[in-house]
Amino acid sequence: MKIQDIQAIQLLLSTPKKIAIIPHRGPDGDAMGSTLGLYHFLLKNKHHPVVVSPNEFPDFLAWMPGSETIKIFEKDKQNCTQILEEAELIFTLDFNALHRTGEMEHVLAKLTAPFVMIDHHQKPDDYAVVTYSDTSFGSTCEMLYNFISHLGKKEDIDKTIGTCIYTGILTDSGSFRFPKTTGTTHRIVAELIDLGVENTEIPSLLFDNSSFGRLQILGRALQNMKVITEHKTAYTTLTQLELNSFDYVKGDTEGIVNYGLSIKGILFTAIFIENKEEKIIKISFRSQGDFDVNQFARDYFNGGGHRNAAGGKSEVSMEETIRKFEDLVTKLSI
Ligand code: 5GP
Ligand code: MN
Repeated sequence: MKIQDIQAIQLLLSTPKKIAIIPHRGPDGDAMGSTLGLYHFLLKNKHHPVVVSPNEFPDFLAWMPGSETIKIFEKDKQNCTQILEEAELIFTLDFNALHRTGEMEHVLAKLTAPFVMIDHHQKPDDYAVVTYSDTSFGSTCEMLYNFISHLGKKEDIDKTIGTCIYTGILTDSGSFRFPKTTGTTHRIVAELIDLGVENTEIPSLLFDNSSFGRLQILGRALQNMKVITEHKTAYTTLTQLELNSFDYVKGDTEGIVNYGLSIKGILFTAIFIENKEEKIIKISFRSQGDFDVNQFARDYFNGGGHRNAAGGKSEVSMEETIRKFEDLVTKLSI
């Protein structure tokens, strides 16, 4: 972090403030971990923080400390709009363009309070007074650990804050496997474990918490998978009808996209998930090695993300979306 940014934050936090903390829509472990970690840190420093999530967080993250205090914008627009308008400072975490908050964007765009961004995605928009953006980090949670340390407040990181940070590091690194996992990542995690963070219980809460329906959804996605060997690509689909038939709840499709990469020789994978309510096909892309799925998602599917993990959407039917995707894939040399 730049020294003037650290000083600017120290000044902003020098008196108790009403602070809104915002994750991206469809918050994942890193978005929840970083917002709740920051929430507990600000609370400890006599501020009045509230996490306002654009929409509901998935059930498998409901055990996280402080999740019961989170306000859900799309469920309670009036109250949340008031909280946002009264906030004296706004933190946006784990995203870097206000449209990633969905409908909440219209409220955020009108606020006059200063914004602070902490994020590890490419090409940040210019809306914050402090933009702590660095794509070399595997998670926003690892950046939050640095952020607190840079403020000279490392001693404030306790088991609760550590639990939140650990969760985001674990989930965004694919359990410490993705390329941005460094020695430093492991050293931070080691410190967190020394603080009492439950490093065997948390993975179990996160990953051994499936409903029978979720496993059936996974089974269907694996059966639907198509492999395009010549282009080292595998993709799968889930229609709304399929999801409904297995009592889908939010979060059930989390992580399924990664299975494509577990096939020998496959370096690019995607999952297409129909969402009838939002009238879109939500897409997740993953790659191994040099193929840049962030660029692919930006160029063709109105999305973005990181080089090896990105997402996007399509507003045409599943069939048309798949036709477009297959057509693009045949032109790729991966
Ligand atoms: P996931 O596939 O797990 O939803 O997302 C993978 C990565 O891509 C995450 O870092 C996520 O923030 C980003 N991402 C997912 N969907 C979108 C999208 O529609 N637009 C942009 N800009 N990024 C996305
Ligand atoms: Mn993240």
